[in-house]
Amino acid sequence: MSNTLPSELIHSLEGLPGFNRESFMRVHTAADKITSLRLNPHKLNAAKAEQVLAALSPNAVSRVPWSSQGYYLPQRPSFTFDPFFHAGAYYVQEASSMFVEQALRAAVDLSQDLRVLDLCAAPGGKSTLLQSLISEDSVLVANEVIKPRAAVLADNLTKWGSANVVVTNNDPRDFSRLPGYFDVMVIDAPCSGSGLFRREPELIPEWSPENVVLCSQRQQRILADVMPALKEGGILIYSTCSFSREEDEQIMDWLLGHFELENIPVPLQESWHIVPAFSAEHNSAGYRFYPDLLAGEGFFIACFRKKTGEAGRKLKEQKNTFLSAKEAGKLANWIAYPEKYDYLLHQEEVLVLPKNLAKDISLLQQQLYIRKAGVKAGQLGQKELIPDHQLAASTLVSANIPGVNLSLQEALLYLRKEDPGIATDVKGWALMRYEDMNLGWAKMLPNRMNNYYPKELRILKEISGM
Ligand code: SAM
Repeated sequence: MSNTLPSELIHSLEGLPGFNRESFMRVHTAADKITSLRLNPHKLNAAKAEQVLAALSPNAVSRVPWSSQGYYLPQRPSFTFDPFFHAGAYYVQEASSMFVEQALRAAVDLSQDLRVLDLCAAPGGKSTLLQSLISEDSVLVANEVIKPRAAVLADNLTKWGSANVVVTNNDPRDFSRLPGYFDVMVIDAPCSGSGLFRREPELIPEWSPENVVLCSQRQQRILADVMPALKEGGILIYSTCSFSREEDEQIMDWLLGHFELENIPVPLQESWHIVPAFSAEHNSAGYRFYPDLLAGEGFFIACFRKKTGEAGRKLKEQKNTFLSAKEAGKLANWIAYPEKYDYLLHQEEVLVLPKNLAKDISLLQQQLYIRKAGVKAGQLGQKELIPDHQLAASTLVSANIPGVNLSLQEALLYLRKEDPGIATDVKGWALMRYEDMNLGWAKMLPNRMNNYYPKELRILKEISGM
């Protein structure tokens, strides 16, 4: 695949702050692959984090300097054959995008309970990052308009394991039905993608100046559609993986020209080599990431506060069916701190919702198409719970549930939805674990197991040497 960049693209970037034609072309020709990931702070303590990183890389890993949980790996391992990956120990994410953390920290008091929207969220890089940073009592709505991509987003957030997340599958304009609802909105907009050309040269032929214009118009439409949902004083974080002014600085000017917003600067360290870029009309600050200046792909980000707007209207609540104390009691053994949650009965399945999310769920249900809310505990039968995979993957599941630690080979067989043939005294429902991290459920029978790992998540690749 040729890495030749379109001359019209190069020409359009001349004069941009930080743009150096020679080194930019050189880094695209060299096409070095950078591998970075972000650890899941809700699933790993310091010792476990070290173990996970050591298993991924025999050579030293290094920190992504603007991220509290981000690491570069010296080589790209096979994530498919790493059970820690399937256990949600980390998310493989391009390093520049991890800068969203800095924007959020600069603009928001993260100890507050926040309602956060990630509008263009699939496959979930920013959503898992946001979830790691917000408080337990905050709520993240992760939305994706394209249905199959929304399914991938839901799977990735299931794996991430936290209960304070709702996954929706809506068009941006649907969010205008929630006026002044969100404290923070992240719009990682669909764009012409030039920032990814080093890593994914197959995207290059799709680039054209006309497409940049179309993307810029779409970005404006998306922002205009969703803006009413941001409350007064709320924070808007806008990002793209495009180098084009039309999608970056010009969008900042368009935003400031159309809405009552103030630009929020994000503090930088010189050693990061992130380039501040100011818009022509409003002198608004955004931040450019060039692959020839730092270890990451092309990226742009800017941050704003909404000066006026709805202050978060009181919205009418609807009745929902929550479990009675007696029914909820059947779940008590399965959940680590059962009193922290409300239990919603939805189509015969029990959803575990943190209290703040439970308060808002009927409103969200009325206005949006919800794909996933909180953690699905499972089906509550007459006698027992038939547990769902979401519970196994979650950080909620009780440590008292019987579990079986699998070897690497056994874990991979389990993840292929086979029977690894383990000898154990455990009977009935049990968590299959790898190095004490939960992978999924199995029902242990006298001479075999029923493997309840979800079919759609199973490893399909052949495992060499088995
Ligand atoms: N935020 C994601 C992450 O960090 O993993 C990446 C998002 S990607 C840059 C942009 C997303 O916007 C895609 O998932 C795409 O399906 C979605 N999208 C495409 N057209 C859209 C539209 N008209 N409105 C909203 N989202 C759209």
